[in-house]
Amino acid sequence: MNTTYIDIIAEVKLKSPSHGSFKIPNLKKLIISYEDGGANMISVITDKERFGGSLDLLKKVRELTSLPILRKDFLSTKKDMDETLEAGATCVLVIARDHTHNKTLELTKYALSIGLEVLVELHNKKDFSLINKLPKEAKIGINNRDLVTLKTDSNFAISFLDKIPDDRYIVAESGFSKPEELATYSKKINAALIGSSLLTSSNPAKLLSQLKKTALAKELTFARNQQRISYFGEYGGQFIPELLIKPLQEVEFAFNKFKNDKAFINKLNVLLDTYAGRPTPLYKAENLSRELKFNLYLKREDLLHGGAHKTNNTLGQGLLADAMGKKELIAETGAGQHGVAVAMIGALLKKKVKIFMGARDIERQHLNVQRMKLYGAEVVSVTSGSKTLKDAINEALRYYSANSKNTFYIFGTAAGPHPFPTIVRHFQSIIGTESREQILNETKQLPTIVCACVGGGSNAIGIFSAFINDETVKLIGVEAAGGASLTNGTPAILHGSRSYCLQDSNGSISESQSISAGLDYPGVGPEHSKLKDIKRVIYTTATDAQALYAFKKLSKDEGIIPALESSHALAYVLSLKGKLPRTATVIVNLSGRGDKDLTTVEKYI
Ligand SMILES: *Cc1c(COP(=O)(O)O)cnc(C)c1O
Repeated sequence: MNTTYIDIIAEVKLKSPSHGSFKIPNLKKLIISYEDGGANMISVITDKERFGGSLDLLKKVRELTSLPILRKDFLSTKKDMDETLEAGATCVLVIARDHTHNKTLELTKYALSIGLEVLVELHNKKDFSLINKLPKEAKIGINNRDLVTLKTDSNFAISFLDKIPDDRYIVAESGFSKPEELATYSKKINAALIGSSLLTSSNPAKLLSQLKKTALAKELTFARNQQRISYFGEYGGQFIPELLIKPLQEVEFAFNKFKNDKAFINKLNVLLDTYAGRPTPLYKAENLSRELKFNLYLKREDLLHGGAHKTNNTLGQGLLADAMGKKELIAETGAGQHGVAVAMIGALLKKKVKIFMGARDIERQHLNVQRMKLYGAEVVSVTSGSKTLKDAINEALRYYSANSKNTFYIFGTAAGPHPFPTIVRHFQSIIGTESREQILNETKQLPTIVCACVGGGSNAIGIFSAFINDETVKLIGVEAAGGASLTNGTPAILHGSRSYCLQDSNGSISESQSISAGLDYPGVGPEHSKLKDIKRVIYTTATDAQALYAFKKLSKDEGIIPALESSHALAYVLSLKGKLPRTATVIVNLSGRGDKDLTTVEKYI
């Protein structure tokens, strides 16, 4: 089943005939709460007389968000359409009732031709007779507000719903405000436009996410709706602003071209070997193997330049950016590890680098900030929202949509919108390819178990990818107990794709809580969600205490200080002591080294 939740178009208006003035003390805060709640588009009413709006209001909203913007007004000329585009809207409302059929068609086609999306609003029987003449790209708006009496009636337009062809994107305007109302009609519509109830809510983000969650959208048979395409079963896809679709298509196109290009592959391989230190060894941990009573092997990504597997990805994407002729690299970072890995590659490839980092994280991760600066990167402090990773990602996406011509966004893990999960898996799959070859060389057979820690899921998918088709190999992903999106989460849309996420009872994304910064992410890559559902990978958790124990154990018994992230995978494997046959072989992906974690660990010893 392909579950798609309804799109919400969240409205900004200063007053309305039925309500009077709305209090918006802080427009930026309102827009951020719409974004946090998962709005897919922002609607701005620019009509002055009845709704108190203006084009300036729309321009202000444009500066605050990278989401698509719908301009609502009583518009009637081509000049109006030009002006709409110029002000920064991506979609425009055309009210059929105000025009002859021919005029409506003319305005619609013109707006589409200059690159605007169009929402054609239909009210009555006469309007509805237009449907088959409208271009399929036009979204259909059904309005429950009677324009003469200005009253809303949530049943009026509904009577027309069944007459609209399946391939049309339908937006219910006005009159819906409660989750129950939406749920009743949502399987016949794709989106709902919500205004007054959000503007009068004490917690718009919460209401919005509730509305989204309760309503399953009608399936679209319309191919142009890219945002609805999923890539890993029902997970993944591109839930992104219209503005990002083209830049990401370019990235996808370039990736597909260069991943098979001999010169590109050569360049990457040379750098992987001589700069980063590949292949990394597969080490048999003899001391621990004796104690555990099976054969434990460690894939030593901790020995990679930079101290973790992240270099595989940043080097790959950095070279892709270079091949595309991009002069600037940007990235988001939470604890700073991905930021450091991008800054390092930026120095190597002589790129300008901007790292977006929450202000709170900058305070907490002083050393990594210093490292990034030493590599020559600019660290941009993000002060919106909770001032952490989630906000840094939003800010980086905002910057990217405005600057994609010269900029490449290096995503840090196998999550985010398509094509990032696929690109990151590709560049990390070298861990699996090497491991498989190394274990076959050493033991002449496939391993019993392959185990990796899962934050966003890049090191895990990297090592799993080579074994997925080997049915006898058990694959185990270990999440941090406090950030276990797969174990404790439910499917939702976060950072551009659909996947398991940690949500509170209201459907808002909750903060994760783990001792290891790299596993402290409320989402996870979409491919893992699929692998969980089809039960190809078993996902489990390790607590902070179990990870700390494994951290110390490996240091003492093998002379290797593992990253706290990797310690989670080790902790699971330690729990298998005596439970496997003597001949069993287990590979743990040691994703990184633990020097960076010493100050954290000291607090707990
Ligand atoms: C970032 C990081 C992780 C978590 O990221 P994934 O994308 O899940 O691999 C794990 N281990 C180390 C050492 C890291 O730096």
